[in-house]
Amino acid sequence: MMDREGLLLVLSGPSGAGKGTICQQLIKKESSISLSVSVTTRSPRLGEEHGKNYFFINEEQFKQMIEGDQLLEWAQVYGNFYGTPRDWVEKKLQAGEDVLLEIDIQGALQIKEKFPQCILVFVIPPSINELQARLIKRGTDCNDVIKKRLQCVEGELQKVPQYDYIVVNDCLDTAIDQVRSIIVAEKCRSKRFDIQKYLQVEGQHESYLT
Ligand code: ADP
Ligand code: 5GP
Repeated sequence: MMDREGLLLVLSGPSGAGKGTICQQLIKKESSISLSVSVTTRSPRLGEEHGKNYFFINEEQFKQMIEGDQLLEWAQVYGNFYGTPRDWVEKKLQAGEDVLLEIDIQGALQIKEKFPQCILVFVIPPSINELQARLIKRGTDCNDVIKKRLQCVEGELQKVPQYDYIVVNDCLDTAIDQVRSIIVAEKCRSKRFDIQKYLQVEGQHESYLT
């Protein structure tokens, strides 16, 4: 009743930090939040499905989406293009539903410009060694790609001060709990409380006074 618009939560962080894992668990546990599916020009990894993990499109289609203003934000990340479809996100938020974006830092900062009320969460691994171990263990990227992604980590960490929260993904359950706590706290913010709407419903109090 008191929320005017859904919460827009943005998760970023180095590749392999565990953003995808956290998002998947979060949407299982929090049925009220939906994860946006991005478009990308990257090739699908083994097991990835079109429409579920990403909408896999070519560069020409990506360009058309930019020109048609169909993307809320977009960026080139680790050599491929990624973007957030506008319509789906805007409709959810307007309907008062919460939305989760798992996007890179350039995209997150574009979202912050357009939706200053969004919440930016930066997920980091407990150490860079652990990050490397996770990327190798995940087994989805070749050594060159892993190297390229690890080379970006230092630059990515420089952007941390622009985020609202940091979650260290050491124990997965703790990290998920922390993100859930952020959602709870953000929902309790006074600025999200619609006093006028509350007073309208409470209008019946006149009967107590007469
Ligand atoms: P990202 O989406 O940030 O690139 P992933 O969610 O794909 O990262 O996670 C990278 C790898 O690390 C995956 O193999 C995943 O199972 C593993 N992983 C995620 N979180 C943890 C954790 N807390 N402890 C150990 N391994 C983890
Ligand atoms: P991956 O190739 O590992 O799936 O993703 C690589 C990077 O692209 C990650 O940092 C991920 O958060 C980011 N990414 C995924 N979707 C989007 C998107 O729609 N927009 C932007 N800006 N980044 C995205």
